[in-house]
Amino acid sequence: MEKQIEPIARMAAELSHLPGVGHKTAQRLAYHIVSMPLEDVHALATAIWQGRKAIRYCELCGNYAAQEQCGVCASPDRHNGQICVVRDPRDVAAMERMNDYHGLYHVLHGALSPMDGVGPDDIRIKELVARLSAEEVDEVILATNPDIEGEATATYIARLLKPLGVRVTRIAHGVPVGSDLEYADEVTLSKALEGRREM
Ligand SMILES: [Zn+2]
Repeated sequence: MEKQIEPIARMAAELSHLPGVGHKTAQRLAYHIVSMPLEDVHALATAIWQGRKAIRYCELCGNYAAQEQCGVCASPDRHNGQICVVRDPRDVAAMERMNDYHGLYHVLHGALSPMDGVGPDDIRIKELVARLSAEEVDEVILATNPDIEGEATATYIARLLKPLGVRVTRIAHGVPVGSDLEYADEVTLSKALEGRREM
């Protein structure tokens, strides 16, 4: 077997850390990159580096943001009394793609999982409770994934919030059980939101 050319092997090793990129794909990408004009590689590397550096968490909802607040929180007409609770920023992107939800979000950055030692203090539940006294909130929509952890998280939050007198709903199971919100198509997600039920 031919010996690996070290800089290409190093590039491939880094690329293989990306989700969905296996060993073979990483090799192919690395070989492609070394065949690209230097300025194109520079533009790619700069976009990744600067993009990563420019992103922080929204101070209000925990979504990814380029400013102190994300685009949703910064928009006055999104403050309509609804907060949709999701596991991570990718789920906000999925909800926004369907164009059917006009309220705010709260990103938990995880889901309760006793098996993995993730408890209520490890995800942004305290921050959600704090928002209920700081903002006008009529309804909290629990849109965690329909898997064991997502259901446990929704149940926990519902029990915590109901005594505070806020309406708590759960999106319907239009999203296939055990799957990620992120991969639901817009119509499915839209129906899941429309068919949400009281908790
Ligand atoms: Zn935000």
